[in-house]
Amino acid sequence: MNNEELWQAVLAQIQFNISQANFSTWFKNTRIFDKKDGAIWVSVPNSFSQEWLENKYHKTILKILHGLDEEIKEVKYLVGKFNFKTPQEKEKAFLPESNQLEFQEFKVDKETNLNPRYTFENFIVGSFNELPHAAAISVSKDPGLIYNPLFIYGGVGLGKTHLLQAIGNEVVKNFPQKKVRYISSEKFTSEMVAAIRNQKIENLKEKYRLLDVLIIDDVQFLAGKEKTQEEFFHTFNALYEKNKQIILSSDHPPKAIPALEERLRSRFEGGMIADISLPDFETRMAILNFKMQERKIDLQEDILNYIASNIKRNIRELEGALNRLIAYQKLNAKTLDLEVVKALLKNLILSPTKVANPKKIVQVVAGFYDLKEKDIIASSRKREIVRPRQIAIYLLREELKCSYPFIGKRIGGKDHTTAIHGYEKIKKELSSNENLKEEISLIRQRIYS
Ligand code: ADP
Ligand code: MG
Repeated sequence: MNNEELWQAVLAQIQFNISQANFSTWFKNTRIFDKKDGAIWVSVPNSFSQEWLENKYHKTILKILHGLDEEIKEVKYLVGKFNFKTPQEKEKAFLPESNQLEFQEFKVDKETNLNPRYTFENFIVGSFNELPHAAAISVSKDPGLIYNPLFIYGGVGLGKTHLLQAIGNEVVKNFPQKKVRYISSEKFTSEMVAAIRNQKIENLKEKYRLLDVLIIDDVQFLAGKEKTQEEFFHTFNALYEKNKQIILSSDHPPKAIPALEERLRSRFEGGMIADISLPDFETRMAILNFKMQERKIDLQEDILNYIASNIKRNIRELEGALNRLIAYQKLNAKTLDLEVVKALLKNLILSPTKVANPKKIVQVVAGFYDLKEKDIIASSRKREIVRPRQIAIYLLREELKCSYPFIGKRIGGKDHTTAIHGYEKIKKELSSNENLKEEISLIRQRIYS
């Protein structure tokens, strides 16, 4: 057995013993990358998974490995990438986590923040996104001259970031001399705050004013950030006057973004506003078919029908469903039938009548992390408990709008400041941590299923 087969065999056994959600959370992107002197080295995508595997699954993993190969006496976990083509790559892979790019095949360009994964070629167009797509194409051909700003809005997971990034990539391809920068409004805000603190605001202004194309994603998060809005207003004007292209996205149209300064709102409304609505059934099928080809798998028509009929509001979730089926198929080397698919996707497909309550949230979070309810409610400070507890706090606030004093009393018997701290911590981290986002979305699905 080579390393890959060995690990597949381990995963296949582990999958029997733990829930699908836990499995995909903790074992996704894990590999054996080395086997030496009776020790197995497993690479994991981040330090949180590492801690989790060490603390919760180590014994099981070791037992299974030892059962497969008696020589194996030890397992170690390392954060890093695993497919090295050169020794330099191997070295780079084991730099501390913060020095690494996100765990992904595509590299985000450091100057432009563009990810080559997002292109117009792999963006499916239907009546739900026809207008923003057409506007994006024309802007990418003639930046600064047609619609300025271009403002795209729509719900979560419907392709705003994809479209914005595709414009950026296209401009870079067609006009290599043009300076393009993509940035989320949260990053923009934190750059601004840091620059003010370090008295470098002039440098930052200068940097933005030299751009030909400025793309700011999710501008709804500028709400209430008065200082950032003010700086952005001046940057906006400076670019606009020089016919430089500005592209923005948000979850709502400008007039529905709360706590946005009037003068900025009217700037946002001064160009083209285009919304992405919801894809219809045929388009959802087209998206599934396209993504299936991309991933080189084949699923029966009735399975695709089932997914497209049940996941309607979010393209990211359509992809999530496919990924889950692919992972299962890889591990089990079986053709999927509809019954298995239903079971696998049970917690992705929500029943809208279900509602959450505090007990349910605590229960689900505890179950998700293989903890007991009382671990979450009690006041232990162990890291493997503190974090799930903060996630529970976050969800109580987000899903049920519980007050901080209520949350504090209910969780850990603490006062409201602990609840505020927990909520803010998770909220902040969510803006940059894709793994956490995914975990929380899996937990939400369980809460409502
Ligand atoms: P948003 O920014 O609106 O939350 P994203 O742009 O991140 O959504 O899209 C979520 C996922 O769905 C991404 O992986 C993206 O590539 C994919 N996606 C969204 N819209 C389309 C589309 N029209 N065609 C193909 N893939 C899409
Ligand atoms: Mg987005």
